[in-house]
Amino acid sequence: MKLKLYNTLTRTKEQFTPLDDKNIRMYVCGPTVYDHAHIGNARPVIVFDMLFRLLRHIYGESHVTYARNITDVDDKINKRAFERWTKKQPLVQEIRSLTDSTLKQFHADIDALGVLRPTHEPRATDYIARGDTTLDMVKLIMRLVEKGNAYEAEGHVLFSVASMPEYGGLSRRPKDDMIAGARVEVAPYKRDPMDFVLWKPSNLETEPGWDSPWGYGRPGWHIECSAMSGALFGDVFDIHGGGLDLIFPHHENEIAQSCCYWDVPKMANIWMHNGFLQVEGEKMSKSTGNFVTINEVLKDWSGDVIRLNMLKTHYRQPIDWTVKGLEECDSMLRNWHQAIENHDAKEGEINTAIISSLSDDLNMAQVFAELHALAKTGNKNQLITSLKFLGLYKPEIYSEKETLMPEQNQKIEILIADRIAARASKNFAESDRLRDQLIALGIEIQDGKDATGAPTTTWKVKG
Ligand code: AMP
Ligand code: ZN
Repeated sequence: MKLKLYNTLTRTKEQFTPLDDKNIRMYVCGPTVYDHAHIGNARPVIVFDMLFRLLRHIYGESHVTYARNITDVDDKINKRAFERWTKKQPLVQEIRSLTDSTLKQFHADIDALGVLRPTHEPRATDYIARGDTTLDMVKLIMRLVEKGNAYEAEGHVLFSVASMPEYGGLSRRPKDDMIAGARVEVAPYKRDPMDFVLWKPSNLETEPGWDSPWGYGRPGWHIECSAMSGALFGDVFDIHGGGLDLIFPHHENEIAQSCCYWDVPKMANIWMHNGFLQVEGEKMSKSTGNFVTINEVLKDWSGDVIRLNMLKTHYRQPIDWTVKGLEECDSMLRNWHQAIENHDAKEGEINTAIISSLSDDLNMAQVFAELHALAKTGNKNQLITSLKFLGLYKPEIYSEKETLMPEQNQKIEILIADRIAARASKNFAESDRLRDQLIALGIEIQDGKDATGAPTTTWKVKG
């Protein structure tokens, strides 16, 4: 099977050749967990989940290792943890408790979107100073200082961009542009405005910190991914992914750190970047109120509708996230599920045309054309299996319902119908009461809308 992927490094679609076809390694920059993740954060998670599924299909499940990191220390996290800190535990533990709970929310959100768990989900704070032989941020920075790629200044350690002539190869920007684009801080302790922070001092009273050869402090953001990918994958790996916004400076700086540390010309062979998502034609922004969390979208739409809406646009294009788009996906899924039910289909094989479309740099438009064809005139067993493979079909929702006694089923349907009526008449107290009653019966409900915009509710037995 030939797999072609667009490589930001070369700006071309390339034939993918694994470094080791028994161990394909993919690293994707994950979320900063300080609050509910927004719907834009779900895009790389879903896109690279799709690629993970494809790689597992082509090379075998046990031959693909996928790491998606968690950034669990950063200024927003530190500030929030300090505000709620009661001094019962050290600040380092306070940020851990805060990020533990946001990570739990993140998992619940993306589980609902049909996302498989990656093989590794390393947390930045576990790779600062490990006290064992595994690569960590302190070891990495020490070596960069020894090699003359980094220098210490006023409690900070900075990467010296001038020490790496190849710097800028991924983003291909002229130096002046990079200075402007990075909005670099011109600090007196920097030798060059382009130099970026590897380590910075923490205030003992107000900020979390770790002991290091340069004093009590914390790492810069870019060094996290060099340490975690190096610890898990070694010097060079196959695929590195993330959103378009990360090309510069984050990925450029990861490359500088890792290539200098390992003495290699490349950190990863293929660099992949998803396009940006905006909401109803506007950039998402907390200050203008045009900000949508995954959790909020899940209150109105089922996970497979959201997943489909994310995959409908090619991953490198921008997405305009709209209610209209969600409605279209809802009816598309209904058609496919209807075709399956009408034919009482059973699982079969994944459609090979779907695999070849995916193998062409995740050509989802072609995948959907194949799905429509299967639903219309094609093999319905292949339709089920292909939808399941794409993370768009959850047969357990149907089979669980079948395990309920008929009278239980009827009771639940009545409660749901009553709740739809209560919502339609805007009697939200009654609709909440009915929701609680359903939850007490162990039923999970999912609200959505049909093609005409009328409210619908689907349900399943809580797993
Ligand atoms: P962050 O939590 O901001 O570090 O972002 C986590 C991941 O989500 C990164 O890969 C970002 O590139 C990606 N991301 C953030 N905002 C958006 C957006 N609006 N559209 C697409 N991807 C995004
Ligand atoms: Zn990263």
